[in-house]
Amino acid sequence: MCYYFSVRGTIPLFLHAESNAGRSRWHGQVCQRPSVLIEFIILPTIGYLLTLCDHSAYNRGDPELFDFDGVAMKLCMIGTGYVGLVTGCCFADMGNDVVCVDNNEKKIEHLKKGKIDIFEPGLADLVKRNLAHGRLSFTGDLAQGVENAAIVFIAVGTPANEAGNADTAQVMNVARSIGRAMNGYKIIVTKSTVPVGTTEMVAENIARETKHSFDIVSNPEFLKEGAAVEDFMRPERIVIGSQSGRATEVMKELYAPYTRTGNPILFMDIRSAELSKYAANAQLALRISFMNEMAGLCDRLGADIESVRRAIGADSRIGHKFLFAGVGFGGSCFPKDLSALISTADAAGCPARIVRAVKDVNDRQREVFTDKIRAHFGGNLDGRTIALWGLSFKPNTDDTRDAPAVFIAELLLAGGARVVVFDPAAESNFRALFGDRVRYARASYDALPGADALCLLTEWNEFRNPDFERMKQLMSNPVIFDGRNQYIREELENIGFTYYCIGRPSGEKQT
Ligand code: NAD
Repeated sequence: MCYYFSVRGTIPLFLHAESNAGRSRWHGQVCQRPSVLIEFIILPTIGYLLTLCDHSAYNRGDPELFDFDGVAMKLCMIGTGYVGLVTGCCFADMGNDVVCVDNNEKKIEHLKKGKIDIFEPGLADLVKRNLAHGRLSFTGDLAQGVENAAIVFIAVGTPANEAGNADTAQVMNVARSIGRAMNGYKIIVTKSTVPVGTTEMVAENIARETKHSFDIVSNPEFLKEGAAVEDFMRPERIVIGSQSGRATEVMKELYAPYTRTGNPILFMDIRSAELSKYAANAQLALRISFMNEMAGLCDRLGADIESVRRAIGADSRIGHKFLFAGVGFGGSCFPKDLSALISTADAAGCPARIVRAVKDVNDRQREVFTDKIRAHFGGNLDGRTIALWGLSFKPNTDDTRDAPAVFIAELLLAGGARVVVFDPAAESNFRALFGDRVRYARASYDALPGADALCLLTEWNEFRNPDFERMKQLMSNPVIFDGRNQYIREELENIGFTYYCIGRPSGEKQT
């Protein structure tokens, strides 16, 4: 790392850090012609002194751990879930030396053999390739992972607790363990989504356990399940919150391979970085709830939400993305992050009224959908068999956390219906929640024999263009409730289906 002094007749006005120009050396460079004294005596002396400081700062840990040429940085990723495993693998794929830590022994045993327990496109190949090349390893021993790393990422879960606050217990446990395992200077990064102020508490927890110095960074993750590898490799932006110039430089270098196409790496203070993640999720969730609210109006007033969507999306200030009405959002992030943001705002004495409304509309949306089913059957679901296609909260993931299908299945069961389900990837997660309270079909069409209705809840590709004639033959009653507005009403009605969807009524006003 090379530091240039810009001097305008006095002592340095600013420092500029430039990577790849040598390691941990401070240089004095004169931009305008200052006096010979400054150029040849004062600046080299300052440069030499700062070089000593610089060495001591970086070398409080193991000097081998920091490689500022951007390759073979030694990283430790704590938590091998959707975020930790993807992040660890993607860093390893760029040549870094990554050890992934998890306290789930079974998971670690599988990962050591190259087997992954989650469904995420492209991830299995990344794990196998980087294991084979020796850049990626797995352990249950957090201390060992931390000792050998220069940069330690915390990527454990932050679920909502009963009060709706983000439960940061896993993060704080890990922070204390990191503190106990510290054997020199390190950079500690919170990758988990954490409420404002948590990263500072992580630092306090580490500091209580160690005398070694460290820098702390907030680096929230914006990847999407289902496209996580792609998102990590080609991020639209990377957010780095840090007060430390040194840590900022290291993070900049670590992420350099992912920002070459010009997408920005944004530097800010830690609290802004933490809040950015919540604000991003709240904004995306807001678009969905807004469209669901408009869809409810369409149902009442006889308008078509698809036409409305096209009309408003054409406005470049609005854009087309994330404007789909449906059964509402779910997953491991939006619901819990909205709740956490609401709690944070309440605690700050600044209630997040819009965010609360976004959540309320979403919670209600599953009932709106189930009400349509109930109404079709004259208010009585008792003894009806309802097939569900799609259980994960969105396509291309096996994640069923807070998935609309979970709530809808519960409502249908509570109404006395028999539920038959199929999902290309999420069956085992759904089974962990429902056991034998529902029946599991081995293929999409196997869910249909005897069904009084089919609900489409997740728009997996294989559900997009099914053989409707075959479906009609299999079902007891040809009725479809399309929770993702995937099908064309006229086509289905011509075949003889009764078709319901969200915000696209049949032309008559609904009362
Ligand atoms: P996850 O539940 O899939 O994974 C968390 C992992 O951490 C688990 O494997 C668990 O065993 C492990 N763990 C917990 N305590 C541990 C400990 N003491 N030591 C070692 N390992 C431990 O969670 P996730 O979906 O990967 O999310 C992680 C964080 O990232 C959360 O804060 C989440 O909000 C955030 N996030 C998630 C996504 C997403 O799409 N899933 C996207 C962006 C951000």
